[in-house]
Amino acid sequence: MYISTRGNIEKQTAAQAIALGMVPQGGLFVPETIPHVDWQELKGKNYAGLALKIMNLFLDDLPPEVLDEAVKVYGDGRFDTTNPVPLTDVGNCGILELWHGPTAAFKDMALQVLPYLLASSIKTIGLQSEVLILTATSGDTGKAALEGFKDVPGTKIAVFYPDGGVSPVQERQMITTGGSNTYVAAVKGNFDECQTAVKNIFSSPVLKQKLAQKNLVFSSANSINWGRLMPQIVYYFWAYLQAAEGGKIKPGEQINIVVPTGNFGNILAAYYAKRMGLPLAYLICASNKNNVLTDFFRNGVYDSKRPFFLTSSPSMDILISSNFERFLYEMSGRDDEKIRSWFADLTTKGKFEADGQTLQECRHNMIAGWASEEGVAETIRQVYEEFDYLLDPHTAVGMKVYADYRKKNGDETYTVVTSTASPFKFAHHVLNALNGDTGNESDPWEALYSLSERTGWEIPIGLKSLSQKAAQRVTRCNPDEINEYLIREFSLGTCI
Ligand SMILES: *Cc1c(COP(=O)(O)O)cnc(C)c1O
Repeated sequence: MYISTRGNIEKQTAAQAIALGMVPQGGLFVPETIPHVDWQELKGKNYAGLALKIMNLFLDDLPPEVLDEAVKVYGDGRFDTTNPVPLTDVGNCGILELWHGPTAAFKDMALQVLPYLLASSIKTIGLQSEVLILTATSGDTGKAALEGFKDVPGTKIAVFYPDGGVSPVQERQMITTGGSNTYVAAVKGNFDECQTAVKNIFSSPVLKQKLAQKNLVFSSANSINWGRLMPQIVYYFWAYLQAAEGGKIKPGEQINIVVPTGNFGNILAAYYAKRMGLPLAYLICASNKNNVLTDFFRNGVYDSKRPFFLTSSPSMDILISSNFERFLYEMSGRDDEKIRSWFADLTTKGKFEADGQTLQECRHNMIAGWASEEGVAETIRQVYEEFDYLLDPHTAVGMKVYADYRKKNGDETYTVVTSTASPFKFAHHVLNALNGDTGNESDPWEALYSLSERTGWEIPIGLKSLSQKAAQRVTRCNPDEINEYLIREFSLGTCI
């Protein structure tokens, strides 16, 4: 069963939690109990088999054949490698490449299976309605969600991205999806404004009623949806199994995990893997210049009222990390009263302060650090020159924070850095970094090909033909116009 971080809804089954996406009156679903699994019993499985085993532990009420079908995505050719998530050695750490899916970012790991889980959840709870999936994106979720839900019967998907806040490749990917059920809107504002506006829609009773009249219900493909987060737990087990099999570690030895973090979903999945019994030591939360999380770990104050920076790692340009709420819920000893009061403060004052014990518990599990834009570019260049390996800017944030941490603390524990995007997705930044050029004026399409020519690395298939594809209609609106946009687009009657 699933409970709310704010204690404001009765227990829900997995199907209910996934179908709802988030608690309608605010709050996120977390599993009431966290299953335990012995990693040694998982040896010898392929990725699909591992995913089946792990996800089954969380989805009691879905028919077993649904998961059997869903995990096939990892082996049916849509990932461009036989091992969908290879662990590669680079210098003194392992890099877990999570970007071999159709959209070249790690979001595919979950968003390829979410449509199966969501469709089945809707059916399991007996809803006859169609689902309208609302997704705020800092760039990568949007495309991965559009690709996952494109032409899936019984669903429509609307994606909202910050106008001017995503990379040219990301924008192009989103607007060339096609499909009869996909909608894309550019919101004037940053990702946080976009995400807050979309979250507010979930709690709008008026819109909900209007949707119901059209036989539609809302759900979310953001990592606020448990169905989106859970598939991400699998690859941490996969990383550990590969490290153990490759002789990088002794069986049972603890490893560190570094995660370039934005909305805190990916690193939270690592935390749940640890709680499930995977031998993980520190989880290292790496931020870019938008370093609100680093500050929190330093002084216990989460302060989102600060300058917002557009960086070379746009998918991490986030000041309100939604899934941090789930982490704090666990770190406070599941104190929903504290969560309610902190998140009320965040809404009204833009900040909150955690108590000392919660902060101590946070630091016990996680280390936080951040990387500057210069540090990111330098890391990309250095790693390429030394190891012939290309990092995208997000992964470079992780590498830089890890290098600083290791230097400062001398911690030689085997460490896996999650690589969250293909370098080609941010080719112009990567190319500038290699050329020691800090400007980013180069043409994004040319950069894609120049990077390939320069390094001999192949452009992922999903990015190759982008510039030739026809673009669909994109609506531009303000955050407070999203309501009207939905009403217009989905013929929900008059404006409110
Ligand atoms: C989404 C994303 C991140 C941030 O992941 P969270 O789960 O939101 O913390 C980092 N890098 C890339 C490339 C992403 O697409």
